[in-house]
Amino acid sequence: MRTKITLACTECKQRNYDLTKEKKTHPDRMEVKKYCRFCKKHTLHKETK
Ligand SMILES: [Zn+2]
Repeated sequence: MRTKITLACTECKQRNYDLTKEKKTHPDRMEVKKYCRFCKKHTLHKETK
């Protein structure tokens, strides 16, 4: 079963990515390094609701 989540940049708080994740494999909040087009660099993105 997959759940829809949103990843937000931890620096500018913009919600940059929508994706789905496997609740079984990632029961906790995900933290991913991704490119933020607002910061124009790679930043840490955290799962939000
Ligand atoms: Zn950003």
